[in-house]
Amino acid sequence: MQTISGQCSCGKIAYHYPAPALQIVACHCGLCRRMTGAALSSYVVVKEAELAFTQGQELLKSYTVTSRTQRHFCTDCGTPLYNSNHETYAGLSMLYLGTVNQHESLAPRMDIYCENKLSWLETSDSCRHFEQMPRKS
Ligand SMILES: [Zn+2]
Ligand SMILES: [Zn+2]
Repeated sequence: MQTISGQCSCGKIAYHYPAPALQIVACHCGLCRRMTGAALSSYVVVKEAELAFTQGQELLKSYTVTSRTQRHFCTDCGTPLYNSNHETYAGLSMLYLGTVNQHESLAPRMDIYCENKLSWLETSDSCRHFEQMPRKS
């Protein structure tokens, strides 16, 4: 069974997740673009209750992006580690894929908010494309 681990760029914060990812998404929405500074944002979705910080948790700070969205980052190096949204995605942590050690084997399974995708950005045809967030089944 695949487990997940990761760290920020300075290495002071590290986390471990004991189970496979619930979902892996590439988000093209404008909010994620601004708050990550990247053309698209890739997230590994895990259960918040099972995500354990193995070091540096005291360096973690939360920034309230919107009334629902919080971004959690390292106060030393500024790396964003995960997002949370306690209304829409209660109980979930959206780990930034770039901080995950196993990023090579965790390809996004779907692209969301494709209507906001930058026109010059090419996405894999193997991804499932959604104009917005698909409803939970
Ligand atoms: Zn750091
Ligand atoms: Zn987004």
